[in-house]
Amino acid sequence: MKTLIVANWKMNPASLKEAKTLFEAIKKGIKNIKNVEVVICPPFVYLSAITQSAGGLVLGAQNCFWEEKGAFTGEISAPQLHDLKINYVIIGHSERRKYFNETNDQINKKIKKSLHEKLGPILCVGETSEEKQMDKKVEVLEKQIIETLKNISSKEIKNIVIAYEPVWSIGTGDNCSIDETMSSILFIRKVIFKLYNREISDNIRVLYGGSVEPDNAASYIKNAGANGLLVGGASTSSEEFIKIIRSVA
Ligand code: PEP
Repeated sequence: MKTLIVANWKMNPASLKEAKTLFEAIKKGIKNIKNVEVVICPPFVYLSAITQSAGGLVLGAQNCFWEEKGAFTGEISAPQLHDLKINYVIIGHSERRKYFNETNDQINKKIKKSLHEKLGPILCVGETSEEKQMDKKVEVLEKQIIETLKNISSKEIKNIVIAYEPVWSIGTGDNCSIDETMSSILFIRKVIFKLYNREISDNIRVLYGGSVEPDNAASYIKNAGANGLLVGGASTSSEEFIKIIRSVA
């Protein structure tokens, strides 16, 4: 299984020109790396232009809506992403839960629609700092996983990637310790085992995300049992992001 490194550019950069420059620099910097799958998730407005020069890079979106079409002003559907030949879609990112009040039930609907359109959902789960302080991490992770994966079959779950993203570590520079990440990833696998079976829990890809930088990236893969990384801030600098990819290759 290849290590999976996902770039979440969030609402960056400010222009298409900069987006193309960043994309081309990353493409060039990693062209000889074969054992890492790199997925770039730019803002929707740049996806179309970037797909045209994707080369070996795989593209993802940062969100999608659960309905196929119709009067949903401002939304983007999974069939529209499929039509652009997008491979992955980040679903349930903590920023969407926080600023747009996304619920587990809505995330579940988005996952189902993405799977239907052959997009690989990257499902984000993780506890906030208040939940961590109240010792509620496992409870929160379990609830998020059970509710967002409701009625997802054993066949479908194989196309889902789970990203463990402690909310307190996103964009803060306070990355999660290796021990804590390892125990969270093991717990996520345990919940998947309870919902599905041993084979699925052993094989589902679980990523870590939260203030990943070139210095700390490799140890999440080597020592914490992560199958890859979801990188926010550092993925908008081609130098930093290339260093991260090289460090895990
Ligand atoms: C993210 O946006 O998913 C993320 C992990 O951000 P950052 O790497 O900036 O913490």
